[in-house]
Amino acid sequence: MNSASSAQPTNFDDWLVDFRASASAAGVSERTLNIALRGTQQLPDVIAKDRRQAEFTLSYWRYMKRVNSKRIQKGINLLKTHKSLLQRVTNKFGVPAHYLMAFWGLESNFGKSFGGYPVIPALATLAHDGRRSKFFRAQLIAALKILDNGDITLERMRGSWAGAMGHFQFIPTTYQAYAVDFDGDGKRDIWSNMADALASAANYLSSLGWDPKQRWGREVKLPQHFDFSKATLKDWKPLSGWRRAGVKNINDTSLPNIDIKTWLVIPAGHKGPAFAVYPNFRRIMRWNKSILYAISIGHLADRLKGAAPISIVPPKNYRRVSIQKVREIQAKLNSMGFYVGNPDGVVGENTRSAIRDYQKREHIPADGHITINLWERLVGK
Ligand code: CA
Repeated sequence: MNSASSAQPTNFDDWLVDFRASASAAGVSERTLNIALRGTQQLPDVIAKDRRQAEFTLSYWRYMKRVNSKRIQKGINLLKTHKSLLQRVTNKFGVPAHYLMAFWGLESNFGKSFGGYPVIPALATLAHDGRRSKFFRAQLIAALKILDNGDITLERMRGSWAGAMGHFQFIPTTYQAYAVDFDGDGKRDIWSNMADALASAANYLSSLGWDPKQRWGREVKLPQHFDFSKATLKDWKPLSGWRRAGVKNINDTSLPNIDIKTWLVIPAGHKGPAFAVYPNFRRIMRWNKSILYAISIGHLADRLKGAAPISIVPPKNYRRVSIQKVREIQAKLNSMGFYVGNPDGVVGENTRSAIRDYQKREHIPADGHITINLWERLVGK
């Protein structure tokens, strides 16, 4: 059988004929296939976006600029605008309004940037392309089923280059599983109906297990001589355990003496801020598996309720680390016997763990964090 995900590149038009047959077999109506796939062309821009290699590692300091005063003020204003709707959504799904607003603000800048790509051609381009064809093929089938269901018209089904749609940038399979019709008009409209959009986001978070009684986490102060290798998403203690270990609130008061499951994260290394994070943080990471994303959601939510900025500000001499330098660090650690795997420039758990082992041997703080100083020490000159 001619498989679209085979290594042999297939001409797009031939691929589309083949895909159409399998979409039909998956239950998409002929009517929708006629409307949605006729004349569908590849979008070269989508492939370019997919191939775009970031040159620098994504740093905490840079990422957190997304939580800025403009976005905070806009969120505070919109909390007032949508107050009664948010109250109804929170009552039904148990997700507090300030968290919903934080997701809205960071996913689409409160509806300002949905991405203007037509979803069907964008997903068809990525499904035909070899890199992640299986994933995008499933998204394309889901998108066609959404059209089949009459929730949205083809013209209005727009999203990011990768097919994330509407106010909360749902991919089609997330939409299918979690979108809800909150205003009761028979359509699940996450593009232009705020009741549906907010309720869909709340329903998704609730399904991920959101605990309405708990926060996401908090900034904390670590004690002197803290073993930074304990600050990972692999080691948790009850909050009371960290309290006994000398971790404090940022204003030097004691942490609450409660048993909530707690991890410590130090996203900018041992000189940056430290956060105690709770199970809701892990639920944010199931929405988007980036630690930086989860911190920015939690912090924006706090700021919308009037909390203070994070206490530690970016260092003045901060220098970004290029992906090339990360590869060099990884290769060097491999050659020294600290296994990091393939030197691919991606900083994952293996890399952080190898850095910690190296730092321990060198008797420097074992935060597992990549900095220019680390590169200079290992590779430079
Ligand atoms: Ca609706």
